[in-house]
Amino acid sequence: MASDELFAAYGGKLNGGHPAIDAATYQTDAGTIYLQQPGAVMLAKPNVNLDAMRPFLEGFDAALQFPAYLDDPTPLPEGAALVKAAAQLCYASFGPGRTANANAARYFDNIRSSGHGSVLEHAVYSFLCYGVSRSLTHELIRHRAGFGFSQISQRYVSGKVLRFVERPEYVEQPDLHARFLTRIDRAAAEYAAVAERLLELQAAGDTILTAEARTDLRKKVQQCARSVLPNETEAPLVVTANARAWRHFIEMRANPHAEIEIRMLASRIFLCLRETEPVLFADYTVQSHPDGTHSVYSEYRKV
Ligand SMILES: Cc1cc2nc3c(=O)[nH]c(=O)nc-3n(C[C@H](O)[C@H](O)[C@H](O)COP(=O)(O)OP(=O)(O)OC[C@H]3O[C@@H](n4cnc5c(N)ncnc54)[C@H](O)[C@@H]3O)c2cc1C
Repeated sequence: MASDELFAAYGGKLNGGHPAIDAATYQTDAGTIYLQQPGAVMLAKPNVNLDAMRPFLEGFDAALQFPAYLDDPTPLPEGAALVKAAAQLCYASFGPGRTANANAARYFDNIRSSGHGSVLEHAVYSFLCYGVSRSLTHELIRHRAGFGFSQISQRYVSGKVLRFVERPEYVEQPDLHARFLTRIDRAAAEYAAVAERLLELQAAGDTILTAEARTDLRKKVQQCARSVLPNETEAPLVVTANARAWRHFIEMRANPHAEIEIRMLASRIFLCLRETEPVLFADYTVQSHPDGTHSVYSEYRKV
């Protein structure tokens, strides 16, 4: 399946050039909110002004014609433009003999096939990831090189923002789906009951629950009450990574051997990145599986 077709099939949209695949919310009869798939929303991408290189390029021997670099008639997506300029700086490839943007596909293929992936680190993309369970994010945050994470704090926020994520295996199974609904209602109620009891103890002066600042009082209750929450509690986060790190993440996690929930997220992140940067992610193909899930493949791993 072509990646743009899958992006559309997942309900992908371009919000002013920033792709997003959103996820619907549902409610149990008791009002507990849950989601059935991850949402991946690109919040930020490179904003490049290559023209700022002009004084630098004009400072070389005029015979080299370096400023002509800025008059390339073929526009590139911003991340690709940034990475290509950074890579071409390495060899001062700004003159007429350089690879022009029209041949960017071949240029990036050389970078990938030769494993010179460090130049991809200049292009950075941020995503809001939601509809993701604590199980998923435990795996996601194992990725370190080139990543930054900011995740909802179960110590800081109250039960009012509790939401849950249903496993894809349960969605089409009426008995497992019903058990999920019952379980999350119970988890939300148990959290509320434990928090209420802890607040009572705190108000009565319980030593271990006391604190100087008001926010610390709430934290002391919530850090304790969260222990009753299951792995299927939603744990939204903002993830920022450079293109090289995202590529490694996609290769590991949009892989058929990856856990299904993180594979759903990784596939969506890939589709958003591919929409934004078709050249940087040109080598990936989407594979469809009999169970209706998808994975992403490239022969160039870990560039
Ligand atoms: C299918 C699957 C099953 C897994 N099962 C388990 C499991 O059972 N138990 C478990 O604990 N984990 C498991 N993991 C997690 C896995 O071991 C990694 O921690 C995770 O995938 C992050 O990948 P990474 O180490 O490549 O890190 P990244 O941070 O994404 O790093 C990218 C690359 O940078 C280099 N790098 C990063 N940090 C260092 C460093 N400190 N020193 C040297 N080089 C570095 C490495 O080459 C690394 O591959 C599993 C992952 C997958 C995909």
